[in-house]
Amino acid sequence: MNQRSTLKINADGHLEIGGADAVSLARKFGTPLYVFDEAYIRKMMRVYRDTLQSRYEGRGLVLYASKAFSCKAVYAIAKSENIGVDVVSGGELYTALSAGFPADKIYMHGNNKLFSELVYAVESGVGTVVLDSLSEADMVDKIAGEKGVKQRVLIRINPGVEAHTHAFIQTARTDSKFGFSVSDGSAAAACKYVLSKKNLALHGYHCHIGSQIFEEEAFKLAVEKVMDFTASVKNSLNFEADTINLGGGFGVWYNDEEPKLKEKDYENYLIALIEAVKSKAVEHGLKLPYLLIEPGRSIVGEAGITLYTVGAIKDIPGIKKYVAVDGGMFDNPRYALYQSKYTAILANRANEKCTEKVSIAGKCCESGDLIGVDMPLPEVKTGDILAVLTTGAYNYSMASNYNRNAVPPAVLVNDGQAEYIIKPQTYEDIVRNDLIPERLK
Ligand SMILES: *Cc1c(COP(=O)(O)O)cnc(C)c1O
Repeated sequence: MNQRSTLKINADGHLEIGGADAVSLARKFGTPLYVFDEAYIRKMMRVYRDTLQSRYEGRGLVLYASKAFSCKAVYAIAKSENIGVDVVSGGELYTALSAGFPADKIYMHGNNKLFSELVYAVESGVGTVVLDSLSEADMVDKIAGEKGVKQRVLIRINPGVEAHTHAFIQTARTDSKFGFSVSDGSAAAACKYVLSKKNLALHGYHCHIGSQIFEEEAFKLAVEKVMDFTASVKNSLNFEADTINLGGGFGVWYNDEEPKLKEKDYENYLIALIEAVKSKAVEHGLKLPYLLIEPGRSIVGEAGITLYTVGAIKDIPGIKKYVAVDGGMFDNPRYALYQSKYTAILANRANEKCTEKVSIAGKCCESGDLIGVDMPLPEVKTGDILAVLTTGAYNYSMASNYNRNAVPPAVLVNDGQAEYIIKPQTYEDIVRNDLIPERLK
């Protein structure tokens, strides 16, 4: 079991998270249920924040990439840890603001921000808009002009670094839909364009090379390219960026094919980035920029588990054994999307040895609705409580009402006590926006 997490097996042989017995949580709150460990989330926010403080004299800010898990409580935690957040839509921005998150510490991302989202962002006083296209620069300039403000912006550049991770979640290749490519000159052209806009205050660059990355070299290479770009723009346009945002992407443990990183490892990733920034600054004679990083998955991923109750079990002799749970792709679409491999354990018999490999199926009418295949487990029985680990990132945030299933609620565990941070959806909630035209009544 993962070292950093507060997951353990208690005297009853039950899985425990953050000091709370998972079987009791399932009984009290029902299943499917997302469970988040507050201490873990805070610990990861602090690792990054404190490393920036101690190794970079605090000249930077950690932005929690809230698309990984967005709800009011998580913004409240980020606020209390004195970090910033990034948001990628009007909905995330609304959630952050309604949790009382300070607008000036919000960074707004997105490859196709809507005009209405940009109006909302500028009107709310969002600290920084990260520009991803020239038409967006036009829109922000116009909106800021009408409001009589000068909007702080960064430009998303694409340094062309290929991170070795799942192809579907790579974002910084030259064929990416994100950012301006450095190699074909469009990033430099975008700088020139943005600098010509009188209601935009360009501060620097953003890059994000992908997600679930373990290669330190990929991050370092990206930093070097961004710093080289900074120097070249300084030379050609006489503009020296004072802010560099290096994005997120640090990997987490999902299964034993992946390394189990310790807090120290995350600290070391950040130190490697910081050292690369410093040495490139010296090489090019640049001032040390204000440094931003945007971890999402690594803050909440391993902080979360999902609890299910086992229902139907179907053994197709010699072929496959299906164990169906009361959730599925509507609470965790990542297997269906990327064949993501998770680890599952029986929360009520957590000490028992794994004796079989099963496919865990959801309850949606879709044969691809699986949580995983060939997952080692003890002999599973109907009524068992199944825990799927590392579901804190990109599970709730990607959930849907497919088949009109209710999106499961989420509880936050703190010192053994759990409370709702997202209430259960009711059937009433599901039909809330449905209308029947008069002529059909
Ligand atoms: C998704 C994303 C992140 C967070 O990535 P993780 O892999 O969850 O750390 C950070 N920045 C941007 C711009 C993103 O799109």
